[in-house]
Amino acid sequence: MPALERQKLILRLADAIDAEADFLAHLETIDVGKAISDARSIDVFGSIANFEYFAGWTSKLDGRTATAVSLPGETLTYTVKEPVGVVAAIIPWNFPLQILSWKLAAALACGCTVVCKPSELTPLSAMRVAQLATKVGFPDGVINVVNGFGHIIGQALATHPGIDKLSFTGSTAVGTAVGKTALDTMKRLTLELGGKSPVIVTSKANLDNAANAILSGIFMNSGQVCDAGSRVYAHACVHDELVEKLKAGAESLTIGPGLDPNSKITPLVSAAHRGRVLEHIESAHSEGASLVTGEGPGGTSREDGILRPTIFDECSDGMQIFREEIFGAVLGVARFRSLDEAVERANASIYGLAAAVYSDNVDETVQLSRRLKAGNIYINAHGLLDPTMPFGGVGASGFGKDMGPEQLDGFLTTKSIYLQLGK
Ligand code: NDP
Repeated sequence: MPALERQKLILRLADAIDAEADFLAHLETIDVGKAISDARSIDVFGSIANFEYFAGWTSKLDGRTATAVSLPGETLTYTVKEPVGVVAAIIPWNFPLQILSWKLAAALACGCTVVCKPSELTPLSAMRVAQLATKVGFPDGVINVVNGFGHIIGQALATHPGIDKLSFTGSTAVGTAVGKTALDTMKRLTLELGGKSPVIVTSKANLDNAANAILSGIFMNSGQVCDAGSRVYAHACVHDELVEKLKAGAESLTIGPGLDPNSKITPLVSAAHRGRVLEHIESAHSEGASLVTGEGPGGTSREDGILRPTIFDECSDGMQIFREEIFGAVLGVARFRSLDEAVERANASIYGLAAAVYSDNVDETVQLSRRLKAGNIYINAHGLLDPTMPFGGVGASGFGKDMGPEQLDGFLTTKSIYLQLGK
């Protein structure tokens, strides 16, 4: 399909999502359990922005003309960009619509067709997007959704020889296995995996701002966020005051059902996942972390699928809650005495998805952002996302990017063309 027609279709899909933003937000909240305010502002409006941004790329996927330096005679040497082919997009349950849009928008812009596999826990929004795509005129077969459990349907996509590119977002354990399988049929691969993102609060931070941003960075979506800032390293001279502010802020968050517009902390996606988060909380208690607020030892008294936002202080780097991804509203805090120490401890993780720095000193923020090992660095904020900026990790957080112009290369192949002129 010509570029400008693709652009129009993608924009029509964005408009169709916009036209039923409220419905889609409800669908997402019912499915995931998340706060309706987040479903609107992050999932739905984030995905609209993504489709709108990538629609503009359809007409800008040019190759380049090279000037050959080693060839005899006169030549014309140039490259063209072509769609990679059929893309399989495997989507997790925490931001089903938004992460679907990350993969779908760029793949469509590049001229690929896509087979989407949402998580079996949260399939509704992808099904609705497929219906809307048909309604706005996408030809049959361009956007496909297949449902079913990951170990069956996801595995089938990873092994299928008709799939040219696999774009996977999910856990490091599953992503590693899926990636190995995909290589058997030489698929191109993007892996957006887990994280254990560190947060450094220096002696020069504005503590009110830092506390607010840290709380939103860990407790948004009830902690079910891949780049959640879950390990705070606070300078010893600001540590106590910061912990007080974090405690007050966490205790002021409204807990309730996702459909209540005031709720910030809502039910987790499933009972099984809630059980895993509770196990991490239990490990923190038994390893000697000091509870600041939230869930105590021995399980929770809540019976509504929700866990209280939980903060532990006096964490050490060897503790499970400082090493393993929890994917729940659990924050650990430790103190440091020098920036070198903070950087070394922040970087001592297998993950490298994101890191945050809080400081009002520009030199300090720029220097720390260079030294931290992560694909995304947030300064005096957490979790900012924009379609123009590539998102992805290093180390066990995977490779390849979603969003930004950098994502396009994942859905394109470059063909080199040599034309001998004259004889
Ligand atoms: P999983 O890895 O369990 O699942 C992710 C997706 O893979 C789901 O659609 C799942 O399907 C599917 N899947 C499961 N097993 C297989 C398999 N054997 N072969 C192919 N596909 C499979 O992760 P979660 O859904 O539990 O999501 C949470 C994880 O995702 C966290 O670790 C988080 O950090 C990460 N994540 C990373 C992001 C990033 O951009 N870096 C963003 C969001 C989340 P089904 O659920 O139906 O079984």
